[in-house]
Amino acid sequence: MSHPQRVTVLGATGSIGTSTLDVIARHPERYQVYALTAHTSRDALLAQCVEHRPEVAVIAHDTDAQWLREALSKAQVKTEVAVGEQALVDVARESAVDVVMAAIVGGAGLLPALAAARAGKRVLLANKEALVMSGALFMQAVETAQATLLPIDSEHNAIYQCLPSEHRGGLARHGVSQLLLTASGGPFRTWSRTALADVTPEQACAHPNWSMGRKISVDSATLMNKGLELIEACWLFDAAPEQIQVVVHPQSVIHSMAAYHDGSVLAQLGNPDMRTPIAYGLAWPERIDAGVEALDLFQVARLDFEAPDEVRFPCLRLAREAMHQGGSAPAILNAANEVAVEAFLAKRLGFNAIGDVVAAVLDDQPVEPVHHLETVLNADQHARRTAEQWVRRYTC
Ligand code: NAD
Ligand code: MG
Repeated sequence: MSHPQRVTVLGATGSIGTSTLDVIARHPERYQVYALTAHTSRDALLAQCVEHRPEVAVIAHDTDAQWLREALSKAQVKTEVAVGEQALVDVARESAVDVVMAAIVGGAGLLPALAAARAGKRVLLANKEALVMSGALFMQAVETAQATLLPIDSEHNAIYQCLPSEHRGGLARHGVSQLLLTASGGPFRTWSRTALADVTPEQACAHPNWSMGRKISVDSATLMNKGLELIEACWLFDAAPEQIQVVVHPQSVIHSMAAYHDGSVLAQLGNPDMRTPIAYGLAWPERIDAGVEALDLFQVARLDFEAPDEVRFPCLRLAREAMHQGGSAPAILNAANEVAVEAFLAKRLGFNAIGDVVAAVLDDQPVEPVHHLETVLNADQHARRTAEQWVRRYTC
């Protein structure tokens, strides 16, 4: 390798962002941080800038930017501070950058992730919502700009590892019959629908196996996360929803599988630690140390599997149906879910009502074919407004 790879970490202060910086710090000869971004966590961003000395730091608001500039100057760190959404796009497509970790949560991550794809970067995609919203356009951008897209979501990273290295053009061409998407089932896997009604944000954010941001933790608890991942897998692997089977596997040791026509099923196993897929994405096709402990199968002892229950957890079904409908339906689903989850976290909406709000918005809003990004962004905005109205109705 001629020079260290220069990396932009979008969403650096989050769960994926900090894990990414942990892996990067283990390999200073390979990676150098170009830019770090955060929404409002200015203290965390400051500490990361002091440690990693990026060229640029991006934060959402002017007041935080001013605070950050002063703090950096006191610490004698030369990082330049930029502000706002355009700055996120700029550090994602900057010509000096080789690798972009897209780890902003939600639809806010779409434009910078897409900018990285359009600029032909190596894109490490954690921000699944970007692909859910604009899968066709995103994959087209990757193709046109010859970007390298590596899935960081553990399930998709696992499937990527279980597929032949050149897997484009549909699964059947490569002898793959089915993708088996594993799901932990979340913290409420065995709860009744009645008990689910009283779930609190604190309970929903305490995932049994993974430590994650609050939004994805709630998504894991409703199984919407698996629904979003089903859509993500359709785009990444050129698969139809019927080719993907969701398998509840409470131990989260098998991260997903690919089944072949000859009866073989290939699985990727590992401790539930996102540094494994992150290190894979950073180093692919090589392998590097991720700081993750070796898997101890004797300690794991057993692997269980069961079918998901779409009656108690309707979000999975809603996502599959949205993917079937196509066009703007997945963007509507995603936007409604983001609003509903935020309302749940703010204790304005019950847990079971998350799925109700998403279903109501999908019923209300006409689905359009998507040829341009504008259609996606409009559908997203419209669905957010409709979802807010439904949240208010459910709260009354
Ligand atoms: P998080 O909430 O811990 O971090 C989110 C990051 O995005 C933070 O740095 C935050 O400052 C930034 N951010 C939030 N809103 C923003 C906005 N409006 N504009 C700009 N920046 C904003 O989330 P996370 O758990 O790290 O998840 C990040 C993404 O990765 C999500 O899309 C999630 O679905 C995906 N993912 C996460 C995990 C995991 O284990 N955490 C696993 C698989 C996929
Ligand atoms: Mg996942």
